[in-house]
Amino acid sequence: MPDSTTPALFLDLDGTVRDTLSGRVHPMEPWDQRLRPGVLARLREYRARGYAIVGVTNQGAVGLGWLSEADVEEINQRLANDLAHGLFDLILYSPYHPHSRYPAYRDQSHWRKPNPGMAFEARERLGLDLGTSIMVGDMESDRLFARKAGIGSFVWAGAFFHGAAPDEPRAVGE
Ligand SMILES: [Mg+2]
Repeated sequence: MPDSTTPALFLDLDGTVRDTLSGRVHPMEPWDQRLRPGVLARLREYRARGYAIVGVTNQGAVGLGWLSEADVEEINQRLANDLAHGLFDLILYSPYHPHSRYPAYRDQSHWRKPNPGMAFEARERLGLDLGTSIMVGDMESDRLFARKAGIGSFVWAGAFFHGAAPDEPRAVGE
């Protein structure tokens, strides 16, 4: 168990770490995903530098009734084990959606990005220091998630995987 000085590399999944073969935004089946270019090298690099690697993904399709939690877990397991070679320490997903017909999937929106619940859960489970952590994403909700959670830096996916110097992540709010 890492101590609470461990920084994390938080990563959005869809459009950041992976895309689909079918052209969908989110994979609906385990086979329909691939790592985006440059991702594996960055995961290895940050792991070697002592960062915990944490995926944080909104999967509102669960709340909308299109996927089950077991489906999402199977999809993410293939990502973690097969595509990312076991480099993720943790992948958290939010099954909630504000328009869900099911109260249980509508009411805990604290877990849905841009709200910070998944960052706090990861901090609890892994003993993370959010202030020295980095969030990488492709949506405004990812940037806001980082800010609300007190994650020290936010970097857009394109810059992080293709060009930006990894030692100089952009500050949140810049
Ligand atoms: Mg995304």
